[in-house]
Amino acid sequence: MRVIIIGAGAIGLMQARELAQKGVAVTLIEKGLCAREASWAGGGIVSPLYPWRYSAPVTALASWSQSYYPNLVQSLEAESGIDPELSRHGLLMLSVDDPDDALAWAGEGGWIQSVDKQELYRLEPELREGFNEALWMPQVASIRNPRLARALRASITAEKRITLVEECAVHELMLDGDKVTGVATDKGEFEAEQVIVTAGAWTGGLLEGVGVHLPIEPVRGQMILFKARPGLVKRVVMRDGKYVIPRRDGRVLAGSTLEHVGFDKTTTEVAKNTLADLAIDMFPGLADAQIEHHWAGLRPAAPMGIPFIGEVPEVAGLWVNAGHFRNGLVLAPASVRLLSALLLNETVPVDPVPYQLAR
Ligand SMILES: Cc1cc2nc3c(=O)[nH]c(=O)nc-3n(C[C@H](O)[C@H](O)[C@H](O)COP(=O)(O)OP(=O)(O)OC[C@H]3O[C@@H](n4cnc5c(N)ncnc54)[C@H](O)[C@@H]3O)c2cc1C
Repeated sequence: MRVIIIGAGAIGLMQARELAQKGVAVTLIEKGLCAREASWAGGGIVSPLYPWRYSAPVTALASWSQSYYPNLVQSLEAESGIDPELSRHGLLMLSVDDPDDALAWAGEGGWIQSVDKQELYRLEPELREGFNEALWMPQVASIRNPRLARALRASITAEKRITLVEECAVHELMLDGDKVTGVATDKGEFEAEQVIVTAGAWTGGLLEGVGVHLPIEPVRGQMILFKARPGLVKRVVMRDGKYVIPRRDGRVLAGSTLEHVGFDKTTTEVAKNTLADLAIDMFPGLADAQIEHHWAGLRPAAPMGIPFIGEVPEVAGLWVNAGHFRNGLVLAPASVRLLSALLLNETVPVDPVPYQLAR
């Protein structure tokens, strides 16, 4: 079986690796360089934010992936020599409106705990004063997603079954009647029996070309990076939907905005100042840290953040794995396993029905 995958973000890279490990020959085609769009721009929290507010289909993919991530990272490091820095430092949530819902959702397992003031400041000594309690998710990890992408790229370029073609935009999906036959690109035509679209926010545009409408919209997210001293922020800390994420070298990401502005990746001073003010309000020590970088990425937003994973009903051999919105990094391992299982007729990791395209 020959498979073409369109788009080498986190989803496309992991999809290629997954299929190649199952013996499938894959051509992965990327219009720019690997993982320079949303998968680079993201924060890398390996959990949905306020997870109890998400639907069961998102939770199912997240739970499967969260258990799988340590194993994935270990294998990737062995394959690539690059450590993606998966850090299980936990997630603190301040000023939550619906703590009872959160605790009820989590049940007895300790997945979410309520912590008092003393415990809160033990966990985050440099948090500004004035908070009396928080919700605490001790098992949540974050990953340094640009490093994850580099590790994935190194892993797949060492894999004989994968041909990676970068700087090559797919213009058109080629059909013979109601069956896909390949893709037309900057560098000519490529043929395959199966084509998987993992083009993130651009997925809908590619499918429109063959008369298929899929509601995936770009939602811009801006983020800033502080060059702070190691240990100033120890965990992912959230307040009012915004968060700070510490990296091992002391850098701290602060994000993010949610903006419906089409395919515009411009950054704005207003967002930069808002994100900086919120982060410094939580951690006054960040006021002394230089803001090293400010960027924007386009999240691929499907309705309710439930990705589309499956075959396009109208076109045999055409598949989609896209629309992961705010959670593409956490949902990726389960999403690619599900699509591989459907394509190869293997046991599925989760019930596939909620992710079908005709839902
Ligand atoms: C600010 C921000 C913060 C985030 N934080 C988190 C987080 O903490 N945790 C989390 O789980 N998720 C987070 N996300 C969401 C996550 O980054 C995305 O859901 C995920 O990266 C989507 O991956 P993807 O591979 O589908 O898309 P992308 O990474 O956008 O990749 C799609 C690829 O397809 C390529 N492509 C598009 N069109 C074509 C074409 N015609 N031909 C060839 N190639 C094409 C693009 O160039 C791109 O490389 C965040 C996102 C943003 C923007």
